[in-house]
Amino acid sequence: SDPTARIPATLIAGDGIGPEIMEATLAALDALGAPFDWDAQTAGLGGVQACNDPLPPATLDSIRRTRLALKGPLETPVGGGYRSSNVRLREEFKLFANLRPALTVIPGGRFDKIDLVVVRENLEGLYIGHEHYVQIDGDPHAVAMATGINTRAGCRRILEYAFEHAIATGRKKITLVHKANIMKALTGIFKETGEQLYEEKYKGRIAFDTVIVDACAMKLVLNPWQFDVIVTTNLFGDILSDLVAGLVGGLGMAPGANIGADAAIFEAVHGSAPDIAGQGIANPVALMLAAAMMLEHVGHLDKARRLRQAIDATLNIDKVRTGDLGGKAGTAAFTQALVARIRGA
Ligand code: NAD
Repeated sequence: SDPTARIPATLIAGDGIGPEIMEATLAALDALGAPFDWDAQTAGLGGVQACNDPLPPATLDSIRRTRLALKGPLETPVGGGYRSSNVRLREEFKLFANLRPALTVIPGGRFDKIDLVVVRENLEGLYIGHEHYVQIDGDPHAVAMATGINTRAGCRRILEYAFEHAIATGRKKITLVHKANIMKALTGIFKETGEQLYEEKYKGRIAFDTVIVDACAMKLVLNPWQFDVIVTTNLFGDILSDLVAGLVGGLGMAPGANIGADAAIFEAVHGSAPDIAGQGIANPVALMLAAAMMLEHVGHLDKARRLRQAIDATLNIDKVRTGDLGGKAGTAAFTQALVARIRGA
C-alpha cells in the first residue's frame, strides 16, 4: 500500500478529560505527520449534549465508513440513564477482541521490564447481560441468575486472532487462561478450541500453554515475566487486563484496542476522570499509546516507534511527568516537551 496515502478515521474526543488528552494526542500525531484525515464525531455525554443521543447515527455512519476510530473516554451514568456507548460500539461493530498491552514505560518501579499483552474476548461469556431474579416467598430478588454464553465459533475467532497477532508481532508464547476445572462447559469450550486450533495450525510456530485463572492471577504478581501473550474469555480478561495495567504504573499508562470484523477502535483504558476534568493536569500518555497502536494497525510502524520513543524520552530523560506519575507538569507542558522530542530528537 502507498505509504503516503491519507487514511480516513473517526475521532471522538470523549467526556471529562477526553478533550484535553485528545488535544494533546492530536498535537503529537500532527508533529509526527500522521496520515489520518479525521472526521470528528460525538458520543457519550458529549453526544447527549450535542444531539440528545449517546451514540448518534452520524457517529455510527462515520465509523461504518472509516472502519477506524480514536476515542476518548465516554461517561456512562451508573444505574439507569442510557446503556454504555462503549458496549454498544462493541456490539455494533462486532469488536470481538480487546487488546491490552502492558509495557513498562518508566523503569525502576516495583515491576520492571514488563512486556506482555492480554487479549480479551469482548462479546461473549458472562458479559452478555442475560441476568434475572427469581422470586421466592414474596422476595422478588431472592435468587439472582446470570447466563454465560461461549460459542465454538466465537472462541475460534478470538483464539485465531490471538495466535495470528502474536506470531505477526514476534511474540514467543501464548497462554490460554480458563476455569475449565469448575465451569466445565462455559470455559471448557474455550480451552478445548484453543488446544485443537494449536494442534491444527500453530504448533511449531509459537509456544502454547494453558493455566487456570486463579493460578494465573498469582503468577502474574509473583513472576509476570513468565508471560508473553495471554488470551482469555470476557470476564477473566476484564480483571486480568486491569491487573497487568497495575504492573506498569496504573491506568494513566494503559492503552487498549478493540478489534472487530467491521472496525477497529483505539482508546485509553481509563475513564473520563471527572474529578480532574478541566484542570489541565490529566496524563495523556495512555491515549497517545493507543494512537501508537493505531499507527501500527495501519502499518505506519516507523511513526509508531517514533511516538513511543518520544514518550519514553520525555518521561525518562527530560523527566517531564504529570501529577499521577509524581511529576509537576500539566497536560500542556507535557505535550510541549513531547512535541519538541518528536520534532528535534
Ligand atoms: P476513571 O478512570 O475515570 O478514574 C479513576 C481515577 O483515575 C480518578 O481518580 C482519575 O482522576 C484517575 N485518572 C484516570 N485517568 C487519568 C489520567 N489520564 N490522568 C490522571 N489521572 C487519571 O474511572 P471512574 O472514575 O470509575 O469512571 C469515570 C467515568 O468514566 C464513568 O462514567 C465511567 O463509566 C467512564 N469510563 C469510561 C471508559 C471508556 O470510555 N473506555 C472506561 C472506564 C470508565
